[in-house]
Amino acid sequence: MADDKKKIGALDGAQMTPEGLSFKGFILSPVVENCTGCERVVPFEGANYCPTYADPAKKWSHGICNFATHVKATVDKEGKTKINPLKASKRAARGR
Ligand code: SF4
Repeated sequence: MADDKKKIGALDGAQMTPEGLSFKGFILSPVVENCTGCERVVPFEGANYCPTYADPAKKWSHGICNFATHVKATVDKEGKTKINPLKASKRAARGR
């Protein structure tokens, strides 16, 4: 029985090039600190990459990544966007 955790993203066919990690015609940049905990992060040759966004730093520079699996954006009463970490217990139940 397959007990591997199902990955949301994978870097099948990705290749390291002198410009960076090439995947589906894009050069991927390593993930940023905000991505820590996201299930889309995929390790590849000693670094972590996101198959969803080629440039995670750019994605986060415009606000919360809307594809992040570990945080959720909500707007509070003052209209400010807040990041809510998903409950660790939920993650633990899904994971191990
Ligand atoms: S989906 Fe967003 S938060 Fe998750 S690894 Fe990619 S850029 Fe980072």
